[in-house]
Amino acid sequence: MVALASDQAHALARRLRERISGEVRFDAGARALYATDASNYREVPIGVVVPRDLDDVVATVAACREFDAPVLSRGGGTSLAGQCCNTAVVIDYSKWCNRIVEIDPRARTALVEPGCVLDQLRDAAAEHGLTFGPDPSTHAHNTLGGMIGNNSCGVHSVMAGRTADNVIAMEVLTYDGARFWVGDGNGVERPDGAAGDGPDEIDTHAGGEDAKAAIYRGLKALRERYAELIPERYPDIPRRVSGYNLDELLPACGANVARALVGSEGTCVVVLRARLRLVPRPPCRTLLMLGYADVCGAAAHVPEVLDAGPVGLEGFDDNLIRFMRDKHMHPDAIARLPDGDGWLMVEFGGDTQDQASASAGRLMERLRDCASTPSTRPSDVRRS
Ligand SMILES: Cc1cc2nc3c(=O)[nH]c(=O)nc-3n(C[C@H](O)[C@H](O)[C@H](O)COP(=O)(O)OP(=O)(O)OC[C@H]3O[C@@H](n4cnc5c(N)ncnc54)[C@H](O)[C@@H]3O)c2cc1C
Repeated sequence: MVALASDQAHALARRLRERISGEVRFDAGARALYATDASNYREVPIGVVVPRDLDDVVATVAACREFDAPVLSRGGGTSLAGQCCNTAVVIDYSKWCNRIVEIDPRARTALVEPGCVLDQLRDAAAEHGLTFGPDPSTHAHNTLGGMIGNNSCGVHSVMAGRTADNVIAMEVLTYDGARFWVGDGNGVERPDGAAGDGPDEIDTHAGGEDAKAAIYRGLKALRERYAELIPERYPDIPRRVSGYNLDELLPACGANVARALVGSEGTCVVVLRARLRLVPRPPCRTLLMLGYADVCGAAAHVPEVLDAGPVGLEGFDDNLIRFMRDKHMHPDAIARLPDGDGWLMVEFGGDTQDQASASAGRLMERLRDCASTPSTRPSDVRRS
């Protein structure tokens, strides 16, 4: 990535201050703060913009375009592979562009701005007995924009899928300045958030004269060119989050451009708003801890565990516990682990505690007859 000459960076900062009402922070302190995320990488950005609203975002991208400066979207900055470090103008949505615009309990959808923190959305959705399924461990800090950027998963993605599976539509902005909706319905005006453009969004929108149509024509050509190769080369695994979701462009997958953009790490568009799918939130939970001789034994049992229909699943090995012991972290919790050096945490949900416990009991019963029977410990969960 090419850095701007310092006089150009100063001129860009001046232009931004004239055009936006949010913060323009090109000082050394701000640039140092935003040089890292949760990864080991460090790249000092050109400057930082904290937009006050979505119009500020549009104006920021326009000003950067005038100076040929790259832009980098940032939510909670919890990425592990350097997704939020670059020699670019960093746009941080988490301070102001973080509203839950609407929750529609009947349609089970939410409309959010990109800086909305996942737990904010989960708390609001819980009032309607709903939740957003994917939940990285960073759920108290990570944003929906970042989850869309990374196609995040998490413990409860076993009940609801990856972020891509829970995005209905998005309002996006290209570097060229085109702002439009992609995905089912293609707009906020649809009250039910359901598909409305017929079976194929790409065919529907490729015919126009505007910038959106030109992009859709490009996508159409792309999928025609690789129609055979994509199903052949894309592995059919539930947690495939690497690379672009080209499979989502195929008619067989629903041809949803929003879902195709999930996981693109801000390289194609800036996400301004997203309409998301919410799922029922099990009111009662039981957590079943399974202990194995090692983590390979734990992994070998995952298919059977999934057959039992858990709402959450996580696995970890003795390394993690050793590190926790070294740092004297959570000794009470470690003492409650069943015997073993590899574990599965399996969470069951139900309308009542008895229902959730019964599901855990059935799995314990089933695993008792296995060749490598795990040690077990069930407990009720009061809060997820
Ligand atoms: C301790 C720890 C545990 C973790 N556990 C999990 C886990 O269990 N499961 C999991 O999947 N991940 C996990 N992660 C990774 C990370 O927390 C998630 O991917 C999280 O969803 C990132 O959200 P964020 O808001 O921090 O995103 P950021 O790091 O801010 O951004 C992520 C990407 O999204 C892009 N982006 C952000 N906003 C926008 C926007 N408006 N438009 C376009 N692109 C945008 C960014 O440019 C970047 O490429 C973990 C990380 C840590 C440090």
